[in-house]
Amino acid sequence: MEYVNLAMPSEKCSFPEAAIRGLGSLQGLFFPAFIPVLEKEKVLELPRMERCLQVLKPFVEPELSQGLLAEILEEAFSFEASVKKLEPSANSGNAAIFALELFNGPSLAFKDFGARFMASCLSRIKGPGPMTILTATSGDTGAAVAHAFFGMEGIKVVVLYPEGKISRAQEQLFCSLGGNIHTIAVAGSFDDCQAMAKAAFDNTGLVKKAGLNSANSINMARLVAQITYYWDLCASLGHTGKEELVVSVPSGNFGNLTAGLMAKAMGCPIKGFVAATNINDTVPRYLHSGKWQPLPTRATSSNAMDVSKPNNWPRAEKILKDQGWTLDAISVNEEESFDAIRELDGLGYEAEPHSAVAYAALKQALKPGQRGAFLCTAHPTKFAEAIQAALGRAPVLPEVIKSVMDKKNLSVKMAVDNGALYSFLMDLV
Ligand SMILES: *Cc1c(COP(=O)(O)O)cnc(C)c1O
Repeated sequence: MEYVNLAMPSEKCSFPEAAIRGLGSLQGLFFPAFIPVLEKEKVLELPRMERCLQVLKPFVEPELSQGLLAEILEEAFSFEASVKKLEPSANSGNAAIFALELFNGPSLAFKDFGARFMASCLSRIKGPGPMTILTATSGDTGAAVAHAFFGMEGIKVVVLYPEGKISRAQEQLFCSLGGNIHTIAVAGSFDDCQAMAKAAFDNTGLVKKAGLNSANSINMARLVAQITYYWDLCASLGHTGKEELVVSVPSGNFGNLTAGLMAKAMGCPIKGFVAATNINDTVPRYLHSGKWQPLPTRATSSNAMDVSKPNNWPRAEKILKDQGWTLDAISVNEEESFDAIRELDGLGYEAEPHSAVAYAALKQALKPGQRGAFLCTAHPTKFAEAIQAALGRAPVLPEVIKSVMDKKNLSVKMAVDNGALYSFLMDLV
C-alpha cells in the first residue's frame, strides 16, 4: 500500500515508512492511497486471526509479507474484544444493544490494540539507529504505549501527560514502569502536551538525532490495527447487514472513529456511526454549523476525550467526503454521562465514563428497528473515582491495578516549555 501525505499529496511512502515517520512533511497525516474492498461474507466467516490477517494485509504489503504480518498479529493481538448483549428490558424500544468491550489488553484500554500492533511492527522494521517514541497522552495512550514498548531493545519511550488531569490508577499504570519508559507530568492541558510534542517533531535535527516517532493515534500502524475489531464485532454478532447496525464510538482524537469508517469503506456491514463526544464538542458543533471553532479544552470525567483539536479529524472527514456519507455526532454532558452510568448499572452492566458517553449518544441516535453497539474503551476500574461518584460504590480493582498502586511514581515535572522538552530528549540520546 502506498500512503499519501494529506497536507502535501506529492509526498508518498510505504507502510514501514509511514509507521516510522508518524507524520509527514508540514505535519501532514498519511492516508492510504485507496481503501481496499473485501468480500464481506468470506471475511466474516474466517476465524479471528485469519480475519485480522485478511483485513490488514492490503495495508502493509508488499514490504511486510503475509508471514511476517501473521507473526506480528500473534504477538500483538494476544487478547480479544468481547461482545456483551444488554438485557432487553434495558431499552425503551425493542432495539438490541451490544457492548463491544475493547479493554482486555494489558493496560485495560482499547489503545492496547493499536499500540501493541505498532510496537510489534516497529521492532521488526526499525533501522539500526536510536528510536525514541514521543507521545502526548490524556491517559490511556501513555499506558498502552508504555506497556507495548516496555523492555524493547533500542527503543526509548517518552510520555507527556497533563499533571493532575488523569486518574491515579491511570498514572500509576504507566509512570511506575521505569527502564526504557520515561514519563513527564506537564503543568498544562492535554492540548499543551500535544503542542509540545508537535514542536519537537517540527525540529528536523532533533527528529533525526533521537529517531523521534510519534505513537499517537496519528500513526498509521495504530490506526489500521483498530479496523479489525469492527469486523470482529460483525462476525461475533453473525451480522451480515440484513438488519441495520449502528455503532457509537466515544471520540477524542477521532482515531477510533476513523478506523470504523475505514472498516465500513472496506465493506464491513455497519449502517452508520455515531461520533460521541463529551462537552469538548468541536466536531458535533462543526457538523451542525459548518464552522471549525475549537474552544479551550474542558476537563471531564471522560478525560481521554478532553480534546478540542482532534488530530485525526482530517482523515475521518476525507472518508466521509470520498464516500458521500454523513455522520451523526452527539455531545454528552457530565450529568448525562453519569445518568448513563447509572442506567447501565441498572441493567447489570458496569461502565466507565467514556463507554457511558457512547451509550448515551447511541440511545439518542438509534432509530426503531436498528441494532446498536457502543464501544467500551476502558475497563471500569481505570476510572474508579467516577464510578464511585456515580454509583456510590467503588469497582473491584483487578490485580494489575492493585499491584501498581503502591509503586513509586517515576515521572519528572515540566512546565509548558518546548525548550525544556528539547533538552530532555537530547539528554536521552
Ligand atoms: C483514547 C480514548 C478514547 C478516544 O479515542 P480516539 O481514538 O482518540 O477518539 C476513548 N475512550 C478511551 C478510554 C480512550 O482511552
